Amino acid sequence: MKLETLSIRIGREVEPDAGDVAPAIHLSTTYERDADGEFSRGYSYTRADNPTRKALEQCIAALEGGVDATAYSSGSAASLAVFSLLRPGDHVVAPVESYHGTAKQLRDILGPMGVRYTFANMTSIDAVRAALTAQTRLVWAETPSNPMLNISDIGAITALAHERGAIVCCDNTFATPVWQRPFEFGADLVMHSSTKFFGGHSDVMGGAVITREGGQRAAQLRDYQGTAGSVPSAFDAWLIRRSLTTLSCRVRTQSESAARIAEFLSRHPNVERAFYPGLDSHPGHTLARKQMKGGFGAMLSFCVRGGRAEAFAIAARMKYFTRATSLGGVESLVEHRASIEGPHSVTPESLLRLSIGLEHADDLIGDLDQALA
Ligand code: PLP
Repeated sequence: MKLETLSIRIGREVEPDAGDVAPAIHLSTTYERDADGEFSRGYSYTRADNPTRKALEQCIAALEGGVDATAYSSGSAASLAVFSLLRPGDHVVAPVESYHGTAKQLRDILGPMGVRYTFANMTSIDAVRAALTAQTRLVWAETPSNPMLNISDIGAITALAHERGAIVCCDNTFATPVWQRPFEFGADLVMHSSTKFFGGHSDVMGGAVITREGGQRAAQLRDYQGTAGSVPSAFDAWLIRRSLTTLSCRVRTQSESAARIAEFLSRHPNVERAFYPGLDSHPGHTLARKQMKGGFGAMLSFCVRGGRAEAFAIAARMKYFTRATSLGGVESLVEHRASIEGPHSVTPESLLRLSIGLEHADDLIGDLDQALA
């Protein structure tokens, strides 16, 4: 099955009792035991497992081409689940440009627990090599990166990490499996903020970790999920599962618009620089062509001429872009990233990030044109 078929057919079987075509939501927190005390139907307590969540997990695993997936209450809960595989003394290599919340988890949660970390420029394989130590157990990849859309080479990073006995987890939130499947380049884990393109409507939070192989690592994550209890509600799992049915249509249309908008911005006299991996001028363009499946995503950013004040003024004049954080929804958003990323931010003050929604690209371009005038 191709991705579109998987997104409709996996974990969405017709319910045997009433014949529901759209899946029912399993709200029960607890499940009946058999007379002998067993749980022959497979469920005992929702924190441990829930049929609606399981359906979501099966679909997400299939979309990424993995063996198993665990779903969480947010993308942050999902990254923390991956970090739970580490022990004091272990070392992590993560991108300088990591999503700021992931970097904060390393600094504020893992660091005090004795896990060490190095933030490296992941667009340079030499920089990744230099950052690895004998204790490195995990290399975190995030490509395209947030918010500069830099591209790192998942295959090369994975080869290097595996040589040193480390595993690789790739945050695939921006690309989605529509455009990029990190397991095809050898990554061991894929992580998502399902709050973004998976949910797609800015109305549900979630996260997921997918394992390329089953075995001990998948079992450890499954155990962590139930023990930590950071699971999505049945309703949230249902909403995300429903949204996955339209993932490919949404992401393709949003990405086509993003490509047109990036071209427009790259030629605009009041734009200093536009960042989109689909642009020939983007330093990661050749690698993105190889690593991504013919599309470059619906996220882009640009630096306006001037600084913070000019960036804020331009965002304020936009009519069809809502000034809000997050991404991946049907509505286009604009965000001044430096002001949300905090003191460790390396993002220029003149940068605005756009998440392109499903409005018509002509309207979005017209709006940007008047805002930049
Ligand atoms: N990874 C990326 C690339 C993100 O953009 C975000 C959130 O913006 C996260 C992880 C964290 O996800 P959540 O907000 O669902 O916890």
